[in-house]
Amino acid sequence: MKYVSTRGDATERGFSDILLEGLAPDGGLYLPLRYPRVDDATLTRWRGLRYAELAYEILSLYIDDIPAADLRRLCEATYTEAVFGTPQIAPLRPLDEGVLIEELSNGPTLAFKDMAMQLLGNLFEYELARRGEELNILGATSGDTGSAAEYAMRGKQGIRVFMLSPHGRMSPFQQAQMFSLPDANIHNLAVEGVFDDCQDIVKAVSGDLEFKRRWRIGTVNSINWARLLAQVVYYFAGWFQATTHNGQKVSFAVPSGNFGNICAGHVARMMGLPISRLVCATNENDVLDEFFRTGTYRVRAGAETVETSSPSMDISKASNFERFVFDLLGRDAARTRALFGDAIARSGGFRLAADEFARVAGFGFVSGRSTHGDRLATIRDTWQRFGQMIDTHTADGLKVARAHLERGVPMIVLETALPAKFAATIREATGCEPGRPAGLADLESLPRRFTVMPPDAGAVKRYIETYAV
Ligand SMILES: *Cc1c(COP(=O)(O)O)cnc(C)c1O
Repeated sequence: MKYVSTRGDATERGFSDILLEGLAPDGGLYLPLRYPRVDDATLTRWRGLRYAELAYEILSLYIDDIPAADLRRLCEATYTEAVFGTPQIAPLRPLDEGVLIEELSNGPTLAFKDMAMQLLGNLFEYELARRGEELNILGATSGDTGSAAEYAMRGKQGIRVFMLSPHGRMSPFQQAQMFSLPDANIHNLAVEGVFDDCQDIVKAVSGDLEFKRRWRIGTVNSINWARLLAQVVYYFAGWFQATTHNGQKVSFAVPSGNFGNICAGHVARMMGLPISRLVCATNENDVLDEFFRTGTYRVRAGAETVETSSPSMDISKASNFERFVFDLLGRDAARTRALFGDAIARSGGFRLAADEFARVAGFGFVSGRSTHGDRLATIRDTWQRFGQMIDTHTADGLKVARAHLERGVPMIVLETALPAKFAATIREATGCEPGRPAGLADLESLPRRFTVMPPDAGAVKRYIETYAV
């Protein structure tokens, strides 16, 4: 399988070529030349596979430059009960009539990003060893992404992580989770500033091409194709668990921010997985809901982006969205470039033509938005009626899911984090303390390792020069 850019750079690259890269050189995102179709016989053959086996089958359709035995071994090493807490890896649990929760947050950082990041850690280590190279990962986080990256890369050969976070601004749980890691290859830099300062520093350091090449700086952001591909697997795993034969359809409700998670659902659907609806749920930062309602995509200014109680969905633009629009436009790269390269740079957004927007329904997408009040009500209702605690992001997904139910079609709501990560809002909604997985009871009392930094790219560069061997 070869990969091309959404903006027309037609140089065909293999999976291993794009694995360690971010954007394509023309500013676009990588996508496979085509989506392999999974036919009825294949679905039948896959039904009943263990998660790691299913992951191997799906990945091998997209990866032909890693020997099969190695890819199989990487999948088996990643998707284990020891890491993900259950033998099913992504089990379904029923809620009420026709609504199920798919548990994607039983990994080490209690959020769904572990599902892809754990595989990425193993793929990176494998590919770097094969090339005899090393990598210094530089990132900025306000919470979930940084911790998932650190837990995936800890102890990995040839990899160091330099993770910037706003000093004192992450939740106590998130700080404890990241700063308690003892691994020598993990560096937590607490920047005296806000998240945007951290992101600006990452941009400044990565924008110094000489420095970037010299110190082999890389990223693990959500536009990485391998992350998206790993996420395709749990759509198949969810569908298999919810159905007994191949004629049955299901819908998925996805708490969305950067459109990475739900884009994987789109890929699964393009491969032929019988998905009825892909329900895109946003919080008050409703860039995506606005698009699916109106055909207008409008990037929000910083001041317009609000802090909410589902903070991992607080985005001003959806960085993976270009992949879907490329497919929506029949893979017209010139048109995609005009929208995402030119129109967004010029006027901060675009409006699709009526005939273009009319195609959205054919891709299964519907949407909705949820507010703090909705979250509290949904968490409380789920607790009172079903005795189940859900986190704030999952609550956004469930709230919007309920508006898009179809008779006879199971609705699978993706659980993107555990309530323990967002305890304050859970207490506000239910008056109860969310439980914690065993082993994390005294997380906050563990010793911490982090370095406080001024909001200054020069200081971060000097730190990297000191520790990037
Ligand atoms: C990252 C994240 C999301 C948003 O996922 P996208 O792939 O960016 O759409 C939702 N919920 C949680 C808990 C997250 O960490």
